[in-house]
Amino acid sequence: MITGKSYIGFSQQSSGSTTYKTINPKLNLENEWVFTEATSEEIDEAINMAWIAFKAYRNISESDRAKFLNAIADEIEALGDDLVQMYCAESGLPEGRANGERNRTVFQLRSFAEMLQSDDWKQVSIDTAIPDRTPAPKPDLRRSVLPLGPVAVFGSSNFPLAYSTAGGDTASALAVGCPVVVKSHPMHAGTGELIAGAIVRAAQATGMPEGVFSNLNSKGIEVGQRLVKHPKIKAVGFTGSIRGGRALLDLAAQRTEPIPVFAEMGSINPVVITQNALEYNGSKWAETYAGSITLGTGQFCTNPGLILGIKSRELTSFTEELAEKIVTIDPMVMLHPNIKSAYGRMKSEVTGQSGVSVLSAPLEVETNYADQAVATVDGSAFLSNPKLHTEVFGPFSIVVQCEDEAQLLEIIENLEGQLTGTIIAEDSDLPNLHTIVDEMRQRVGRLIFNGVPTGVEVCPSMNHGGPYPSSTDPRFTAVGMHSVRRWVRLISYQNMPESLLPNELQNG
Ligand code: NAP
Repeated sequence: MITGKSYIGFSQQSSGSTTYKTINPKLNLENEWVFTEATSEEIDEAINMAWIAFKAYRNISESDRAKFLNAIADEIEALGDDLVQMYCAESGLPEGRANGERNRTVFQLRSFAEMLQSDDWKQVSIDTAIPDRTPAPKPDLRRSVLPLGPVAVFGSSNFPLAYSTAGGDTASALAVGCPVVVKSHPMHAGTGELIAGAIVRAAQATGMPEGVFSNLNSKGIEVGQRLVKHPKIKAVGFTGSIRGGRALLDLAAQRTEPIPVFAEMGSINPVVITQNALEYNGSKWAETYAGSITLGTGQFCTNPGLILGIKSRELTSFTEELAEKIVTIDPMVMLHPNIKSAYGRMKSEVTGQSGVSVLSAPLEVETNYADQAVATVDGSAFLSNPKLHTEVFGPFSIVVQCEDEAQLLEIIENLEGQLTGTIIAEDSDLPNLHTIVDEMRQRVGRLIFNGVPTGVEVCPSMNHGGPYPSSTDPRFTAVGMHSVRRWVRLISYQNMPESLLPNELQNG
C-alpha cells in the first residue's frame, strides 16, 4: 500500500503540507496516490540519522554489508507485480522494460555484494619499510580506502529503478559503507516508495543501523538544495539535466566544506559514418539507427542525437532512408507531460535554426506521445551554431553533412564532452581511422565501433561518464563495479602497528 510518506530512517513520516501526485502519461491523468513533500525538519532528521548510522555502518563487516545488498535485491523481487504495475503507471514505459530494469537493478545489487567478497576494489598498495636505506630510511606505507560519509542520491526520471531509489548510485554507495539519503524523483514517487520500503525491510532484517537509508519525497528543488548544503552530507550522486546537475555542483562548491558532485547529465552521443559504410551498408545502418534513436522513446542518455558524415550522394540517401524509416515506427509515450513539452520545445528550437531542414514526415501523435524526427544541416552551420549541439531529450537526431574530413575532425574537436561516440566503418577503412579515433576519444567516455550507443552493459570494463557536460568528473564511471570509487577516498598508514591496520593491509 502506498502511504505517500517519506522514509526517515525506518519510520514513515509526513508532517508537511505540500502534496503532489504522479501522472500516468499514457492516460494523461493524475494517479490516485498523494505524496507529501518532506519538511526541513524531516530532511535534517534523515541526515542526522545517516551521520550517526555512518559511525556503525562503516565498520560493519563486508560480508554483512553484502547480506544487506542481497536482502534488498530479494525484497525488490518480492514486490512482484505491484512494482511493475506502479512503474508502468508512473512512467508510461512498457512491462517488458519494467521487468528488464528490475532485473538490472537486482543484478547491480548482487554484483556489488559479490564485489565485497574480495579486497580488489580497495586500491590496496603496500610499500614495506627499508630501515637501512640511505641517506634516509624508508617508512612502511600502506594504502587503502575509506567511505566518504552520507551520500545524497538524486534518482533519474528515465530509469525509475536502475538509476533511482535503489539504483547504481545507491547500491554502490551502500556497498562501500556510505549511508544514503535519496531525494525521491517526483515523477515516480510511488515506485520510489515501494523500493524504499524494500530497502528499509532489508536493513531491519539484516541488522543495519537505522539511518543507513532514508527516502525524502519532494516536488521542487528545495529538498535537494537543503540536502546538498547540509554539512553532514559528504557526496552527491545525480542523473538528469545539465541545468540541474550544474546547479547542484555550484551549490556544493559554495559550501564551507565543498563536496564532490558526481552528476551524469546531457549528451548527444556523436556517430561518425564513413563513405564506405554508407556505400556498402547504408540501408542496414539507417534501419538500425531508426531503432536506436526511438528506443525507449529516445529517453536514454546514450541516445544518438548527432550523426556525422562527409557530403555525398550516399549520405543523402542514408539520411532520407533514416527519415523514412523512423516515421514507420509507432510513436511512443514519453515519461511525463513536462518531458514531452521539453522535447517539443527543444526540437523546435533546434529545427528552427538557420540551415536546418527536417526530413521526416510530420506525425500526428496523442497527448504525451513523441513525434520522432530526423533533421539535417551543413557542417559549417553546425560548427558556427552551438544551439545545434544541445540535447533534444527524445527520439530526435540531426545528420551533419561535412564538407570534408578536415571539417568532420574540426566538429569532433569542438564538441562538448559526451558519454559516448560511435564509429561506423568497413574493414577497409581501418588504416585511415586513427585520427578520427584519436579526436573522438578526447571528447567521449566510451567509444563504440559498428554498433549503437544505446544499451549500457554493467561490468567492470564499462565506463559511463565523460568530459563535461556529460558528467561533472570525467575520471569516474557511474556504471559498473568501478563506480564505487566515487564514494571512497584514499588513506595511507605510515609505520602503523599491524593490530591497528585494517584487514586488507595486514601482513599475510
Ligand atoms: P532534472 O530536471 O535535472 O531533475 C532531476 C532531479 O534533480 C529532480 O529530482 C529534480 O527535482 C532535481 N533538481 C533539478 N534541478 C535542481 C536544482 N537546481 N536544485 C535541486 N534539485 C534539482 O531532470 P528530469 O526531471 O529527470 O528531466 C528533465 C530534463 O532533464 C529532461 O527533459 C531531459 O532534458 C533531461 N534529462 C536528461 C537525462 C540524460 O540522461 N541525459 C536524463 C534525464 C533527464 P524536482 O524535479 O523535484 O525539481
